[in-house]
Amino acid sequence: MVPSPVEMFRDLPKKVCPECGEYIEEQAESYMMECDRCLANKEE
Ligand SMILES: [Zn+2]
Repeated sequence: MVPSPVEMFRDLPKKVCPECGEYIEEQAESYMMECDRCLANKEE
C-alpha cells in the first residue's frame, strides 16, 4: 500500500513558534524559527 503524495505531505511535522506556540507556515528557504508575528515584533 503506497501512500499518496497528499497523505505524505500531511504527515510532515509542522514547525511551531517557540515564542507563542503558533504553527508556522512552511516557507521556502526559510530558516527562521519564529512565526511571522513574533518576527515582526522583533524587527521593531
Ligand atoms: Zn510566534
